[in-house]
Amino acid sequence: MVVAYSGRVPAEQVVRLEDRSAGLDGVIVIHSTALGPAAGGCRLWHYPSFDQAAEDAFRLAEGMSYKNAMAGLPFGGGKAVLRHPVGDFDRSALFRAFGRAVAELGGRYVTAEDVGTRVSDMQDVAGATQHVTGLEAKPGGLGGNPSPRTAKGVFDAMKSAASFALETDLRGLRVAVQGIGNVGGELCRLLADAGAELTIADVSPARRDRVATILGARVVDVDDIAAADVDVFAPCALGGVLDERSVGAMKAKLVCGGANNQLATPDVADMLLDRGITYVPDYVANAGGIISVTAEYLDESAALVDMRVAQIGPRVATILDEARRRRLSPAVVADRMAERLIAQGVRRVA
Ligand code: NAD
Repeated sequence: MVVAYSGRVPAEQVVRLEDRSAGLDGVIVIHSTALGPAAGGCRLWHYPSFDQAAEDAFRLAEGMSYKNAMAGLPFGGGKAVLRHPVGDFDRSALFRAFGRAVAELGGRYVTAEDVGTRVSDMQDVAGATQHVTGLEAKPGGLGGNPSPRTAKGVFDAMKSAASFALETDLRGLRVAVQGIGNVGGELCRLLADAGAELTIADVSPARRDRVATILGARVVDVDDIAAADVDVFAPCALGGVLDERSVGAMKAKLVCGGANNQLATPDVADMLLDRGITYVPDYVANAGGIISVTAEYLDESAALVDMRVAQIGPRVATILDEARRRRLSPAVVADRMAERLIAQGVRRVA
């Protein structure tokens, strides 16, 4: 297998997944186990070629190493990316085959849901391996949809960043939320409760209009949300939304949202810095979901999860403070902090 990828740190292990009878075609990338088993979700998406799927897996696995390290979790980073079969396929058979591949790694990789996969898929995976999380909630235990905790972390991150960078609290703050799904919808509810003024956009008009009616949010077109006349832009839909064009037109002075991989390219971080727009690194703000599913895997308590999520706000303040003092982008400061934590883990296991 040849994959062109120039990550910052090479991956530890790459496993090609191929089971034609089950429609399985994909890859597991274990980026780092320096801090613990590599944890990261399983994505099922339409990739035109295997190499494109593998490149995405490398990038996402590396991102999980950074996210898990920054969240203080005893986990490294990994990811599984599966190519969506063409035509009809047996979904259960596909995920059972994937589960067998995860089982063969003996706990070096822990999987969960991601884009294109759902709890029922992970239940199928669980038939073949115990190294899966994000399952149905058990009575009195963790499990189920982790999005509310992701949204709470983003909310706390925004509160902390607004206080630090805009010297204001959330009451009366004008926030534009892009994508009113699981994370964006809950974030809107928290923001409305805190007295923020909401502007929202979603490609699904039904979802958008429901939230607009309940919370009294202003609605704008999806093409106008990043340039809305607001104080804060909260990307909660897709990755890559921060690029030369969107940053050039942005009126917000703070970007803080739940979407993964918001920067289209790393140099956009400096563009934001040059324009005086404070950027809260996405993987710091949106760690609530992985905090929740890894605690579920370790059979830890909900109280511990809430405590870890509550550390996101202070962590954002630390990053923004260091970024200001050193005149660096918060994205660069966060990456260096994460790299230091991973290097400490490497030294511990060496
Ligand atoms: P979701 O599918 O529930 O919601 C995404 C929403 O964005 C949908 O309502 C969709 O219609 C909308 N959307 C898609 N394209 C859009 C566009 N161009 N403009 C405006 N709206 C658009 O997904 P989610 O679980 O809420 O996740 C949102 C983001 O947060 C993703 O990037 C995801 O990777 C990231 N994330 C989610 C979690 C979690 O716990 N769910 C954790 C960490 C990161």
